[in-house]
Amino acid sequence: MPKKRVEPTDDKPEPKPKCERCRSKKVVPILWGLPTPETFEMYERYKEENGEPPIWLGGCCVTGNDPGWHCLGCGHEFGLRE
Ligand SMILES: [Zn+2]
Repeated sequence: MPKKRVEPTDDKPEPKPKCERCRSKKVVPILWGLPTPETFEMYERYKEENGEPPIWLGGCCVTGNDPGWHCLGCGHEFGLRE
C-alpha cells in the first residue's frame, strides 16, 4: 500500500498564483533538487491519471535564484521559491 503523503500543515493555505504571462491557472510548484523515488513515483502516477503533472521537476541545479512556479500553459516560470 502506498503511504499517505504527509503534507506540512500550515494554517494558511498556499494560494496558487495565475501565470503572469498567459493568465493560465494551470501552474504547478517547481520542485528543485533531486526527487526521492517516492516523489517521482507519485509524480508519474499523477501525470498518468490526470494528464498533467502535479509538480514540475526543476532539476538538481539549484542556483539560489530559482522560480517557484511553472506554467503548464506556456512554460513560463515565475515567482520565487520559498
Ligand atoms: Zn503561462
